Amino acid sequence: DKKVYYFGPSKTDGDGSMKQLLGGKGANLAEMTDIGLPVPPGFTVTTETCADYYKVGGKLPAGLMDEVRENMKRMERDTGKKFGSDSDPLLVSVRSGAAASMPGMMDTVLNLGLTDKSLDGLQSATGKTRFALDAYRRLINMFGDVVMGVDHHAFEDEFDRIKKKHNAATDNDLGVEGMEELVDAYKKVYKKHTGEQFPQDPYVQLEKSLEAVFKSWNTPRAIRYRQINEITGLQGTAVNIQTMVFGNMGDDSGTGVAFTRDPSTGKNEFYGEFLINAQGEDVVAGIRTPKPVKEMPRWDRRSYDQLIKIKTKLEKHYKDVQDLEFTIERKKLYILQTRNGKRTGPAAVKIACDMVKERLIDQKTAVLRVPPNDLNQLLLPSLDPKAKRDVIAEGLPASPGAAVGKLAFTAAEAADRTQDGEKVLLVRRETSPEDIDGMHAAQGILTSTGGMTSHAAVVARGWGKPCVAGAGAIHIDEKKRKITVNGRTFTAKDTLTLDGGTGQVLAGEIATIEPKLSGDFATLMKWADRMRTLKVRTNADTPEDSQRARDFGAEGIGLCRTEHMFFEGSRIKAMREMIVAETEAARRKALDKLLPYQREDFIGIFTAMKGLPVTVRLLDPPLHEFLPHDAKAQQDLAKTLGIKPAKLKQRVAELHEMNPMLGHRGCRLAVTYPEILEMQVRAIVEAAMACQKKKVQAKPEIMIPLVGTAEELDLLRGLAEQTIASVKKEHKHKGRLDISIGTMIEIPRAALTADDIAEHADFFSFGTNDLTQLTFGYSRDDVGTFLGDYLAKELLPKDPFQSLDATGVGQLVAMGCEKGRKTKKDLKLGICGEHGGDPSSVEFCHKVGLDYVSCSPFRVPIARLAAAQAAV
Ligand code: ADP
Ligand code: MG
Ligand code: MG
Repeated sequence: DKKVYYFGPSKTDGDGSMKQLLGGKGANLAEMTDIGLPVPPGFTVTTETCADYYKVGGKLPAGLMDEVRENMKRMERDTGKKFGSDSDPLLVSVRSGAAASMPGMMDTVLNLGLTDKSLDGLQSATGKTRFALDAYRRLINMFGDVVMGVDHHAFEDEFDRIKKKHNAATDNDLGVEGMEELVDAYKKVYKKHTGEQFPQDPYVQLEKSLEAVFKSWNTPRAIRYRQINEITGLQGTAVNIQTMVFGNMGDDSGTGVAFTRDPSTGKNEFYGEFLINAQGEDVVAGIRTPKPVKEMPRWDRRSYDQLIKIKTKLEKHYKDVQDLEFTIERKKLYILQTRNGKRTGPAAVKIACDMVKERLIDQKTAVLRVPPNDLNQLLLPSLDPKAKRDVIAEGLPASPGAAVGKLAFTAAEAADRTQDGEKVLLVRRETSPEDIDGMHAAQGILTSTGGMTSHAAVVARGWGKPCVAGAGAIHIDEKKRKITVNGRTFTAKDTLTLDGGTGQVLAGEIATIEPKLSGDFATLMKWADRMRTLKVRTNADTPEDSQRARDFGAEGIGLCRTEHMFFEGSRIKAMREMIVAETEAARRKALDKLLPYQREDFIGIFTAMKGLPVTVRLLDPPLHEFLPHDAKAQQDLAKTLGIKPAKLKQRVAELHEMNPMLGHRGCRLAVTYPEILEMQVRAIVEAAMACQKKKVQAKPEIMIPLVGTAEELDLLRGLAEQTIASVKKEHKHKGRLDISIGTMIEIPRAALTADDIAEHADFFSFGTNDLTQLTFGYSRDDVGTFLGDYLAKELLPKDPFQSLDATGVGQLVAMGCEKGRKTKKDLKLGICGEHGGDPSSVEFCHKVGLDYVSCSPFRVPIARLAAAQAAV
């Protein structure tokens, strides 16, 4: 089996479609070479080889180095240089690159192939002694650090010592003599920490670096990054070995990173940054703040024009926004990497719509391009433009959105304080891949150096997290945990607001406004609606939520939880009266007080949803949830209800259950207390009649929860029908009322006997929260104590309460659908758990043939888009 794929002028083995095998970087280097872009020649060791390396317990597979040598020979022929030569040496980089992009999480070694001998060669070939020494000391440092695990600081300390000795203020001020001393000092550091000399055989350097890149696949930070981003099922990383080109050969050389369009807003504007006389990593690491590319023509017009041509070609070729790395060596431009650019949610939507207008892609592709969850960013509140702003500093608008929080000065601090329930902003000079946990936890990220393409900016945009980068006026004192800016000081206790859209840093908390569905967002949703077959409803139990969901495109209410209504104001008192009542008559009296409230609630909701179906779930939670549990509150309540405290205490004790979630709840309440069901059904019917009088068409669907047997539903449906009939009679109602009766399928037994249950149901709604709880046997309220371990050990791929477990719970859903429709061909089917707003669960619902999903109002657009993606 072939382990190595070459790319260069003499041949190219791979292409852009081979990301799984060659990694994204390797596949695209091959593709770019193929379409004639100036890519330094090289080759890619496959991801399969990395998997093999791990399979045999961490050994390079037999034959690999032979293949590597063969390909090195070809590179030597293509470049006319020789690896390790003392006249014109070939130097290479050894670069990681998996199928999914993991920016900066794995290792790369540059300038490989320099030895005492080839150093002379590099000096004579380039005529640049200082440059050659600088390249050598960088190699010893990087190889020592990445491959041999020597602490980076050990090298830095020597650098500082020698700079001081030579009175050099910056790295660049150190002359040839100092550089020679530095190389010697670095070699000593290397020897001291590794016990060996720095390797003088270039192939030893190559082999060890290759292995180090394989190893970097499984460092804790790489593993953590994959976890956060749910990257699973990959073989490992590929390794790219590529001819070095040098952006640090003088003032006619440079390096940069660019996006074919603005990844922050989506605007069709070439967007990027570069540094003169620097090596690639300097831009990404945020060590120096680079210049915007639009200043490039003044420096090197020809390379700029060529870069613009290449950017257009790349976008046409890939039909998507590209994020590219380039290097200019003595006025000659090279492209070192391209990948689909990570972008924010708003940018994703704009770019998708623009590209349709430009006829680059069709509507289907546009709909598929936007990750549904990224719409979240368009649904978040943004800073009120009318609010007063106390701007303390301005940085680069690296990732849009508003973030408010107190200041945290290290990634660990940000993670800890977030865990404790605080909202924090992570404030750093720059961020590094080590910081991802804290970056992920923080509300937003603020850096004082680094540009729009720095690590912090790229990672923040990928997550849609607000970020302001390179706010140079801010001085961060990490040790004293404070920042100073223009004479003002802010500490860990102070709150700031970041406006990632303008780059402003503001004192205090700024007011926000609600988002709107308009412009490109509305256009994209319109396309999505035309493509999907699954309907999208919402979970709502107030007229306000119902209206908001309608604005977001909800086509009905899939779950209206009536119990939430009982907690407000004086209702809770009537509810409690009902619960402590000792006779049916007393209970009915209390229920009579609740009736008008319920009726008004329903009138409000039916009116907001006029013409659209509203599924009302009858009372579901165990009654004890409505009673206070601490002694003081119980005494107060006893007083208000006019009963003895002991009596109340006794009633609370009676209602106590060992396992409330498996206890007296759902339809079991209606079995014991039919009068509760009667009151609720009456409220629904009277509300529907009241609406009809106002010419508002109400379409209630009465949903009976927690049914496990057909007999339960048979009994309760009968009761509901009787109530409907008697209320109509009482009101002498003539016209037709559009009321249906159905049930939730949330107990495994209900799914197993769905054919019998369907005899008594007009619709099923899968309550996948309870169904997941009961199928796994995980209590939803306790799962948090062990779920983390299950995810870390990959015993579960995802939290099954967030993303429907298609393998297990999904079988019950599929069975429920199939059996239900066997009994009733036109049985209406929906889902109303949290899963209704999760894109992969929506896809599952589409596949098993549900009629609709239902989710919280803010997830409605996400579900609409996910439903369209499932359908095309
Ligand atoms: P990452 O995936 O972290 O971006 P890369 O493999 O792209 O890692 O390399 C890190 C940096 O080194 C990049 O800035 C890249 O442009 C630079 N680099 C890599 N290979 C070469 C090369 N052959 N010549 C010059 N610079 C290189
Ligand atoms: Mg890169
Ligand atoms: Mg339930």
